[in-house]
Amino acid sequence: MAAPVPGASGYVTSGNANVASRVDAEKYLESYGYLKPGQKVTDRDFTEALRMFQKKSGLPESNELDKETMHQMNLIRCGVKDVEDESDVRGPAPPGVTAIGARVSSPIALDDDSYLRRWWYQCNLTFALTKGTHHRSDEEHMNMIESALKQWEDALREGARPHPDGVTSALTFTALPPAEAHNAELQFSFEPREHRDGNAFDGPFGVLAHAFYPYVSGKLIGKIHFDGDENWAPNKLIGRTFYYVTLHELGHSLGLNHSDLPSSIMYPFVRSGLESNVALMEEDKQRIRDLYPTRLCDLFNNARGNHQADPRQRRRGR
Ligand SMILES: [Zn+2]
Ligand SMILES: [Zn+2]
Repeated sequence: MAAPVPGASGYVTSGNANVASRVDAEKYLESYGYLKPGQKVTDRDFTEALRMFQKKSGLPESNELDKETMHQMNLIRCGVKDVEDESDVRGPAPPGVTAIGARVSSPIALDDDSYLRRWWYQCNLTFALTKGTHHRSDEEHMNMIESALKQWEDALREGARPHPDGVTSALTFTALPPAEAHNAELQFSFEPREHRDGNAFDGPFGVLAHAFYPYVSGKLIGKIHFDGDENWAPNKLIGRTFYYVTLHELGHSLGLNHSDLPSSIMYPFVRSGLESNVALMEEDKQRIRDLYPTRLCDLFNNARGNHQADPRQRRRGR
C-alpha cells in the first residue's frame, strides 16, 4: 500500500462541534495537557496554550481561536495527552540502577536521565483481549492486534544488532488464550464511558481510545482501552480505523508519546482512509528504535548479576 498522503484523505470529524467557544477550548486544552488542571487561565496562558496546540497540530500559529483551530479541536482523536507533566514521564529508578544518575555497565551508554525513560524491562510481552464487542469476533480482533504488534516488533528487528541467542528484536510478543487473559502484560478491552481509570470516555466520536505508558502508569501499565460506545463494526467509519487505532495505541503502550508530524502513526488525530493494512511510518520506526536500542532484559538482568532471562522469552523464540 502506498503511504497515505497527509491531508489528501482528510481527517475524521465528530460531526457535532464539541468545541464552539473559549470555555470549551480551555477545557479541551486542559484535557490534553496544554493547560494545568484547575489553573486560573489568564488571556496570556490561553494564547500560549493555543499557540502550542497550533504548533503541535501543524496549523498556522495565529494565536487566535479561529475557525481552523476549532475545527482541529473537533477532530476525532486519541485520548492520550499531547503535553505531558512530570508524573507522565518520571518513574523510580529502573532495576539495576540504584540511585539517580547511577550507571550500569552496558553496551549502551545510559545518560543521567535514563531512568526517566518509559521502557518495558522484559523483552517478551504477552497480550490478550480481556473484553471484546459484538461488532467483531474476538478472534478477528486478536488477529488484527497481533498484526499491529508484529509491525512494532519488525521495526525493532530491522534496526537491531545481531544477538548471540538469535533473538534480534528488542521486544517480542506472545498471545495468551482467553483463560489466561488477565495475566497478560498488554490487555486490550472495550470500555464504557466511566471505567474507573480516571479517563472516562465521551460516548460516540470524539476520543476513540487511550493507552498507558510503561513504567510510570502504575497498575494501568499495558492497558489499551477502546471507547465501547463507538460503532466498531468493520464497515463503519470508526470500525474501519480499528487497526490504525490499535497500531497507534500500541506506540503509547511501548513508551512513545504523540508526534507533531501529520504523516506519523503517532500523530494524535485520526485520518480517514487508513484502513486494514496501514503501515508504520519511518518516523515511528526510528523513534521506537531510539527508545529500545538494545534488549533491555539482558542489560538489566546482567546488571543485577541475574543471568536468568525471563522464562517467557523462550516460549516464542523470535
Ligand atoms: Zn495517542
Ligand atoms: Zn481507560
